[in-house]
Amino acid sequence: MDNLDYSLSRKKHMTQLQTDIAVIGAGPQALTLITHLLQKHKRTRERLSAGFSPGFQVFDPSGTWLAQWHRQFAAQEIPHLRSPAVHHPDCNPHSLRNFASGRGDELYDPYGRPGTELFRDFCETVIDRWHLRNQVTRAKVVGLLPLPRGFRLTLADGQTAIARRVVIATGSAIATIPDWAKQVSDYPPERLCHAQAVSLPKLPSLLGETVLIVGGGLTSAHLAVGALKRGARVLLMGRRTFKEKIFDADPGWLGPKYLKGFDAETDWKKRWQMIQQARNGGSFTPEALTRLRKFSAEGRVFLSEQCEVTRAVWQGKHWQVQCDNQAVHDCFAHQSIDRIWLATGTKLDIVGHPLLKELIEHYPIDVVHGLPVLDQHLRWPGCDLFLMGPWAALQVGPVARNLFGAKLACDRIVPALTKSSLSISHARLR
Ligand SMILES: Cc1cc2nc3c(=O)[nH]c(=O)nc-3n(C[C@H](O)[C@H](O)[C@H](O)COP(=O)(O)OP(=O)(O)OC[C@H]3O[C@@H](n4cnc5c(N)ncnc54)[C@H](O)[C@@H]3O)c2cc1C
Repeated sequence: MDNLDYSLSRKKHMTQLQTDIAVIGAGPQALTLITHLLQKHKRTRERLSAGFSPGFQVFDPSGTWLAQWHRQFAAQEIPHLRSPAVHHPDCNPHSLRNFASGRGDELYDPYGRPGTELFRDFCETVIDRWHLRNQVTRAKVVGLLPLPRGFRLTLADGQTAIARRVVIATGSAIATIPDWAKQVSDYPPERLCHAQAVSLPKLPSLLGETVLIVGGGLTSAHLAVGALKRGARVLLMGRRTFKEKIFDADPGWLGPKYLKGFDAETDWKKRWQMIQQARNGGSFTPEALTRLRKFSAEGRVFLSEQCEVTRAVWQGKHWQVQCDNQAVHDCFAHQSIDRIWLATGTKLDIVGHPLLKELIEHYPIDVVHGLPVLDQHLRWPGCDLFLMGPWAALQVGPVARNLFGAKLACDRIVPALTKSSLSISHARLR
């Protein structure tokens, strides 16, 4: 087949793409889903290893697994994960530790948190071991239309795909921007940006600059360290007192200790409150906060707690910033700040999810503070659409968005994908 024939057949294949299960997104959540699906479903496993179409199709604009994950770790120069070595996309919790034999110095105490390179290398072996290297279609899904049986997915290049079942594993990428920042105008975009848009490796030197970082979570600590390394002075501002926690949420939320009570709660609003209390906003790991306090004692970082920006004005070369904490108000007013980075997290609003507008019209759903009320299999009521990651928090609990949350989500989704008795349309993997 010459090149032209090949591209035509590929195009034809793409335009007529039909699959049983479409997975939107190829991050850690999606990879965890696929490994758990393959573990549970021998026939799919066999078909995949024999080089046949496995019955699922994964879509991601990058065309590869974990692109967004690697991008964010590189952009913030994160040395190791926050979560322990037993949290990863493979089915056997011990497989990362086994893989790390001989690389013990890349497991960080406490709890053997894997180094970034170690985790990357391990995930590559997972992808190869499950024969998933070529299973991500390079495409952004821009539309999702429910059909009488299944869904039509529209891809960014205008092509379409038909799927009987769909799993949304897109994460949540909508940056939270404080009101004062929305009101600022006329400034160079690199001088005020959300953490998502900061790429430390692209900033070779910040010598002599002052960077204001807003936020009290681990991202602000990573960015502070990166700015200091490049010669900047850092002002780190948090609206609450800085907190230290090893993990985002207490490990009791990984199992029955807390999840039993969470599952027993039938009031979704109370569940939402339990999630807020468990995560309790951003926090630093103890070692990150100790490091920041040391930098503060050396005069390289100015830590400002219980403090919020009220106004920022770009003055041509610098920012002038006002804040609401009287104790440091004058101090900030007299600083000439070169850059402001917003480590203010992301927000969840299922109603605003770009893929779900049409679906919500066909299948209305209860929403609690932006989160959908899914069924116990993380399925959108009335159709075979499943959601993972942060969107599943009302069922999975406070760690839904984390690596372990993916495993908890699989315990719910995989049975519904593999058993026809649990499927709305009586579909199951053949
Ligand atoms: C800096 C950082 C560090 C973290 N560290 C940890 C940690 O150590 N341990 C832990 O447990 N958790 C951690 N988390 C939380 C969480 O595990 C990660 O955010 C993780 O990447 C979430 O996985 P995901 O698959 O839901 O989302 P993502 O990794 O964001 O992947 C989603 C994918 O979906 C794709 N996508 C989005 N929209 C579409 C579309 N319309 N069509 C097709 N594809 C689409 C995106 O391109 C992306 O590749 C961290 C989060 C951040 C931001």
